[in-house]
Amino acid sequence: MQKITVLGATGSIGSSTLKVVEANPEQYEVVALAAHTNVEKMTALCLYWQPVYAAMADHDAAQQLRKRLASKGLATEVLAGEEGLCQLASLPEVDMVMAAVVGAAGLSSTMAAVKAGKRVLLANKEALVMSGQFFIDAVYQYGAELLPIDSEHNAIFQCLPQAVQHTPGRCDLHAAGVSKILLTGSGGPFRYREPQSLTNVSVEEAVAHPNWSMGPKISVDSATMMNKGLEYIEARWLFNAKPEQLEVVIHPQSVIHSMVQMCDGSVLAQLGTPDMCTPIAHAMGYPERVHASVAPLDFTQIGEFTFMAPDARRYPCLSLAIAACEQGQAATTSLNAANEQAVAAFLAGKIGFMDIARINEQVLTQSSLPTPTSLDCLFELDRIARITANEQIAKVTP
Ligand code: NAD
Ligand code: MG
Repeated sequence: MQKITVLGATGSIGSSTLKVVEANPEQYEVVALAAHTNVEKMTALCLYWQPVYAAMADHDAAQQLRKRLASKGLATEVLAGEEGLCQLASLPEVDMVMAAVVGAAGLSSTMAAVKAGKRVLLANKEALVMSGQFFIDAVYQYGAELLPIDSEHNAIFQCLPQAVQHTPGRCDLHAAGVSKILLTGSGGPFRYREPQSLTNVSVEEAVAHPNWSMGPKISVDSATMMNKGLEYIEARWLFNAKPEQLEVVIHPQSVIHSMVQMCDGSVLAQLGTPDMCTPIAHAMGYPERVHASVAPLDFTQIGEFTFMAPDARRYPCLSLAIAACEQGQAATTSLNAANEQAVAAFLAGKIGFMDIARINEQVLTQSSLPTPTSLDCLFELDRIARITANEQIAKVTP
């Protein structure tokens, strides 16, 4: 029996993870669940899963959850705050940790799982974007096992030779016969819209992803393609990829989840129904295969596969992220933080859709970017970028 902690249990990835556990009840046991503020949903999850521990990052929410569970006679111990999440990520009895908090807020708890030497199922791409080399170094220093959950990175991982799989962030792609990683993306809901027409798109239009059902932040990131930009940076770290080894390709059907081109001209791809239960089941079961409760692909229903190059005018955030990746860690940490603030402001109706890219660019050009030498430096860069972004957001008249 493998024991799991799910960080971000009330979210989209959290519920897919619990679906995979449900599909394999003999193999996995939920020991701990953690989330931010959603007491209602967490109460229901605790009643169903009866975990030994639960945690809420928000202290008031933790207090409410404690009361509710006690009134139902549940013995689940409730922890509070970021420290609570870190504790659940490093429980001695836990084998694997699903890191599915959204945003930089997940870095500390994801890092706690790494430092406890767990199998880390990494959905929280922002944590890796924010900390890059520090994260990879910690994986080796503490003997953690890193498995990508992001569907593209999970697909790439599946297509790479074993030697590369076993050396995350330190592999030599060229020596392994890999010439290029082809990172696919659907292009989001606005892939056929004229760039000039995007100024007034509503929140509802932006979060309505054509192929995937996801949380609000990543849905907006998919519409701007900042998500692909963050994934480009994520791939750079996970696979130690150089710029000439990474290419973004738009594939509107989202059936191919990414590909790897070999030096002999072969291209390997991982395909599947667009459902996050597949990469989650892959990472939980690795190197074995376990059930994911996902509808199998029916090729007779797919019809056609199409591909195109991303248009920089439609997706300025993608170009920004690739440029930041070239600049280095300080730039990617700042861009990630600015983007989180801008997306939250867009979701709150404070700024327009195209303001997101504009604010991200302003933060990048305004920040003086010292090379970070520790995790504390990264948190400081993140903090400053958020202040700069908020100043820009305040200037926008909705
Ligand atoms: P979501 O918004 O549905 O869920 C986010 C979860 O994080 C919730 O459980 C919430 O309680 C928790 N959370 C938010 N702020 C927190 C805080 N400050 N402290 C502690 N917990 C906090 O998001 P999601 O779509 O499940 O995405 C989670 C992560 O997985 C993101 O990093 C996203 O980029 C990544 N991801 C998601 C998908 C997907 O299909 N949803 C695919 C690939 C990668
Ligand atoms: Mg993805």
